Amino acid sequence: MNQPIAREDLASLLKWYLDQGIDETIGEEAVDRFAAPAPVSASALSVTPVQAPVQAPTPIRAAIQASLPRGPVPIESPQLVEDARALARRCASVGELEQAVRAFEGCALKRTAKNTVFADGVAGAPVMVVGEAPGADEDRLGKPFVGVSGQLMDRMFEAIGMSRERDLYITNILFWRPPGNRTPTLSEQAICLAFTRRHIELARPKVLVLAGGTAAKSVLDTTEGIMRLRGKWTSLGLDDGSTVPTLPTFHPAYLLRTPASKRQSWSDLLALDKKLRELGLR
Ligand code: URA
Repeated sequence: MNQPIAREDLASLLKWYLDQGIDETIGEEAVDRFAAPAPVSASALSVTPVQAPVQAPTPIRAAIQASLPRGPVPIESPQLVEDARALARRCASVGELEQAVRAFEGCALKRTAKNTVFADGVAGAPVMVVGEAPGADEDRLGKPFVGVSGQLMDRMFEAIGMSRERDLYITNILFWRPPGNRTPTLSEQAICLAFTRRHIELARPKVLVLAGGTAAKSVLDTTEGIMRLRGKWTSLGLDDGSTVPTLPTFHPAYLLRTPASKRQSWSDLLALDKKLRELGLR
């Protein structure tokens, strides 16, 4: 009953996939969707609990277990955001938070990502940079900002004498690559942001840099665009009562597409350098 598919139809199907941002295969074998059983309804989807590791219980492991969704929970459930917040609150160090994020099964992006991308650089460094989400290179290597935009970011910080080996702590609001680099949904952002806000509290940076519009809007909880936000210092209030001077700036991927905007980013870097000097950190 299955008709052979013409070569040009296959080529146009592949082009359609590429246009949708599906530029990578995630399996070695092609799947014959025509032969597959009918898809299950959305309501049948549930979050898979983490298999308990065969290790002695620790407070944080117990917290992870206690916070796992009970029974079927829809992927977009606000309960998942609450679970993520409760779990993050119970983490007392960056190490515990990393363990909790790696064990967390409440974000659907984890199912299509190869790696959890937690952070790079020096935890406790004076400057923490928060970007949007891992791309293909970050997903493959398990580290944030290691692709072309990350290399541009490294060169920009080098221009003011800073490096990720010494002065920077780098993360994203999302710990898993969205398929085809699509913009993360608000629900995915809200779930991961619960961990990222705690990440900032625990890393205690002296200054926070938000790279790009998605990170800036999400962390600052604003609808204002990056064109208006960039270059303006603001104070981010955290749940533990602390505050951190925060500078939104353009995302390096935007600068790669729009090199004329590098002038404004350079002025943001100079503002960062000035702030660090005022704080006696340079
Ligand atoms: N873009 C980001 O926002 N983060 C990364 O880690 C890589 C690219």
